[in-house]
Amino acid sequence: MTGIVSRLILAVVTIASVPAIWMLLLFLQWETRWTRDQDLAIALANLVTALLLIGAWVLIWRREIRWSPRRSALTIVATVGSLMLAGGFGFWIGEATRESEAGHIFGGIVWALLWLAATAVIWRETASERIERMQRLGVHGVTCPTCGYNLTGMKEARCPECGATFTLEQLFASVAESSV
Ligand SMILES: [Zn+2]
Repeated sequence: MTGIVSRLILAVVTIASVPAIWMLLLFLQWETRWTRDQDLAIALANLVTALLLIGAWVLIWRREIRWSPRRSALTIVATVGSLMLAGGFGFWIGEATRESEAGHIFGGIVWALLWLAATAVIWRETASERIERMQRLGVHGVTCPTCGYNLTGMKEARCPECGATFTLEQLFASVAESSV
Protein backbone atom coordinates (compact mmCIF):
# COMPACT_ATOMS: atom_id res chain seq x y z
CA MET A 1 0.00 0.00 0.00
CA THR A 2 1.39 3.40 -0.92
CA GLY A 3 1.39 6.31 1.53
CA ILE A 4 -1.38 8.14 -0.29
CA VAL A 5 -3.72 5.11 -0.26
CA SER A 6 -3.08 4.69 3.46
CA ARG A 7 -3.86 8.37 4.07
CA LEU A 8 -7.07 8.17 2.01
CA ILE A 9 -8.28 5.18 4.05
CA LEU A 10 -7.43 7.00 7.29
CA ALA A 11 -9.34 10.05 6.01
CA VAL A 12 -12.44 7.95 5.26
CA VAL A 13 -12.25 6.28 8.69
CA THR A 14 -11.88 9.71 10.32
CA ILE A 15 -14.99 11.10 8.62
CA ALA A 16 -16.99 7.93 9.34
CA SER A 17 -16.10 8.06 13.05
CA VAL A 18 -17.25 11.69 13.51
CA PRO A 19 -20.93 10.86 14.29
CA ALA A 20 -19.88 8.08 16.70
CA ILE A 21 -17.50 10.39 18.59
CA TRP A 22 -20.15 13.11 18.77
CA MET A 23 -22.75 10.69 20.16
CA LEU A 24 -20.25 9.26 22.64
CA LEU A 25 -19.51 12.77 23.93
CA LEU A 26 -23.24 13.45 24.40
CA PHE A 27 -23.72 10.07 26.10
CA LEU A 28 -20.84 10.75 28.50
CA GLN A 29 -22.39 14.09 29.40
CA TRP A 30 -25.80 12.49 30.12
CA GLU A 31 -24.19 9.73 32.17
CA THR A 32 -22.09 12.06 34.29
CA ARG A 33 -25.08 14.46 34.63
CA TRP A 34 -22.75 17.41 34.82
CA THR A 35 -25.36 19.62 33.15
CA ARG A 36 -29.09 19.53 32.44
CA ASP A 37 -28.75 22.08 29.66
CA GLN A 38 -29.21 20.20 26.38
CA ASP A 39 -28.08 23.18 24.31
CA LEU A 40 -24.85 23.45 26.24
CA ALA A 41 -24.18 19.70 26.04
CA ILE A 42 -24.70 19.63 22.25
CA ALA A 43 -22.60 22.76 21.72
CA LEU A 44 -19.78 21.24 23.78
CA ALA A 45 -19.99 17.93 21.86
CA ASN A 46 -19.83 19.95 18.60
CA LEU A 47 -16.77 21.88 19.77
CA VAL A 48 -14.78 18.86 20.97
CA THR A 49 -15.69 16.81 17.86
CA ALA A 50 -14.68 19.71 15.60
CA LEU A 51 -11.30 20.09 17.35
CA LEU A 52 -10.67 16.33 17.09
CA LEU A 53 -11.62 16.38 13.39
CA ILE A 54 -9.30 19.33 12.66
CA GLY A 55 -6.47 17.66 14.56
CA ALA A 56 -6.88 14.29 12.81
CA TRP A 57 -7.24 15.94 9.37
CA VAL A 58 -4.07 18.01 9.74
CA LEU A 59 -2.19 14.99 11.12
CA ILE A 60 -3.23 12.78 8.18
CA TRP A 61 -2.45 15.32 5.45
CA ARG A 62 0.42 17.33 6.96
CA ARG A 63 3.09 15.83 4.71
CA GLU A 64 0.99 16.48 1.59
CA ILE A 65 0.50 20.16 2.40
CA ARG A 66 2.99 22.90 1.56
CA TRP A 67 2.36 25.70 4.02
CA SER A 68 2.95 28.76 1.85
CA PRO A 69 1.84 32.05 3.49
CA ARG A 70 -1.05 32.25 1.01
CA ARG A 71 -2.21 28.71 1.81
CA SER A 72 -1.99 29.29 5.58
CA ALA A 73 -3.99 32.52 5.26
CA LEU A 74 -6.63 30.84 3.07
CA THR A 75 -6.95 27.99 5.59
CA ILE A 76 -7.62 30.50 8.39
CA VAL A 77 -10.13 32.39 6.21
CA ALA A 78 -11.89 29.09 5.32
CA THR A 79 -12.02 28.06 8.99
CA VAL A 80 -13.51 31.37 10.12
CA GLY A 81 -15.78 31.61 7.06
CA SER A 82 -17.18 28.09 7.44
CA LEU A 83 -17.85 28.78 11.14
CA MET A 84 -19.75 31.97 10.31
CA LEU A 85 -21.75 30.40 7.46
CA ALA A 86 -22.60 27.24 9.42
CA GLY A 87 -23.32 29.29 12.55
CA GLY A 88 -25.75 31.46 10.58
CA PHE A 89 -27.39 28.41 9.04
CA GLY A 90 -27.69 26.69 12.43
CA PHE A 91 -29.19 29.81 13.99
CA TRP A 92 -31.72 30.04 11.15
CA ILE A 93 -32.70 26.36 11.56
CA GLY A 94 -33.02 26.89 15.32
CA GLU A 95 -35.30 29.88 14.81
CA ALA A 96 -37.36 28.27 12.03
CA THR A 97 -37.97 25.02 13.95
CA ARG A 98 -37.97 26.64 17.44
CA GLU A 99 -35.55 23.86 18.36
CA SER A 100 -32.15 25.32 19.15
CA GLU A 101 -30.80 21.74 19.46
CA ALA A 102 -31.67 21.12 15.79
CA GLY A 103 -29.83 24.34 14.95
CA HIS A 104 -26.68 23.13 16.76
CA ILE A 105 -26.83 19.71 15.09
CA PHE A 106 -27.37 20.91 11.52
CA GLY A 107 -24.99 23.83 11.98
CA GLY A 108 -22.31 21.35 13.10
CA ILE A 109 -22.87 19.06 10.12
CA VAL A 110 -22.76 21.99 7.66
CA TRP A 111 -19.57 23.30 9.26
CA ALA A 112 -17.79 19.93 8.93
CA LEU A 113 -18.79 19.54 5.27
CA LEU A 114 -17.79 23.11 4.37
CA TRP A 115 -14.46 22.91 6.18
CA LEU A 116 -13.48 19.52 4.75
CA ALA A 117 -14.36 20.62 1.21
CA ALA A 118 -12.49 23.91 1.63
CA THR A 119 -9.31 22.20 2.87
CA ALA A 120 -9.44 19.76 -0.05
CA VAL A 121 -9.43 22.71 -2.47
CA ILE A 122 -6.98 24.97 -0.60
CA TRP A 123 -4.44 22.27 0.25
CA ARG A 124 -4.32 20.93 -3.33
CA GLU A 125 -0.93 21.25 -4.99
CA THR A 126 -0.75 24.02 -7.64
CA ALA A 127 0.72 23.37 -11.10
CA SER A 128 3.90 25.32 -10.30
CA GLU A 129 4.34 23.45 -7.00
CA ARG A 130 4.02 20.19 -8.90
CA ILE A 131 6.70 21.22 -11.39
CA GLU A 132 8.98 22.23 -8.49
CA ARG A 133 8.39 18.89 -6.77
CA MET A 134 9.13 16.96 -9.97
CA GLN A 135 12.36 18.94 -10.38
CA ARG A 136 13.40 18.11 -6.82
CA LEU A 137 12.83 14.46 -7.71
CA GLY A 138 15.16 14.87 -10.69
CA VAL A 139 12.42 14.90 -13.33
CA HIS A 140 13.14 17.96 -15.42
CA GLY A 141 10.13 17.96 -17.68
CA VAL A 142 10.25 18.69 -21.36
CA THR A 143 13.35 20.19 -22.94
CA CYS A 144 13.92 21.13 -26.58
CA PRO A 145 15.38 18.06 -28.37
CA THR A 146 17.48 20.41 -30.53
CA CYS A 147 19.00 22.91 -28.09
CA GLY A 148 18.01 21.62 -24.64
CA TYR A 149 16.01 24.72 -23.67
CA ASN A 150 13.50 24.00 -20.86
CA LEU A 151 10.02 23.98 -22.41
CA THR A 152 8.19 23.61 -19.07
CA GLY A 153 4.99 25.67 -19.06
CA MET A 154 4.97 26.22 -22.83
CA LYS A 155 1.57 26.06 -24.52
CA GLU A 156 2.86 25.22 -27.98
CA ALA A 157 5.42 22.74 -29.27
CA ARG A 158 7.74 25.46 -30.57
CA CYS A 159 11.05 26.25 -28.87
CA PRO A 160 11.29 30.00 -28.06
CA GLU A 161 15.09 29.70 -27.93
CA CYS A 162 16.00 28.13 -31.30
CA GLY A 163 12.66 28.28 -33.09
CA ALA A 164 12.46 24.54 -33.83
CA THR A 165 8.96 23.09 -33.96
CA PHE A 166 7.96 19.58 -32.95
CA THR A 167 4.94 17.34 -32.97
CA LEU A 168 3.67 16.24 -29.57
CA GLU A 169 4.84 12.67 -30.17
CA GLN A 170 8.36 13.90 -31.00
CA LEU A 171 8.49 15.77 -27.67
CA PHE A 172 7.03 12.77 -25.86
CA ALA A 173 9.61 10.47 -27.43
CA SER A 174 12.47 12.79 -26.42
CA VAL A 175 11.23 12.85 -22.80
CA ALA A 176 10.95 9.04 -22.75
CA GLU A 177 14.48 8.77 -24.21
CA SER A 178 16.05 11.20 -21.72
CA SER A 179 14.49 9.41 -18.74
CA VAL A 180 15.91 6.00 -19.71
ZN1 LIG B 1 15.43 24.77 -28.97
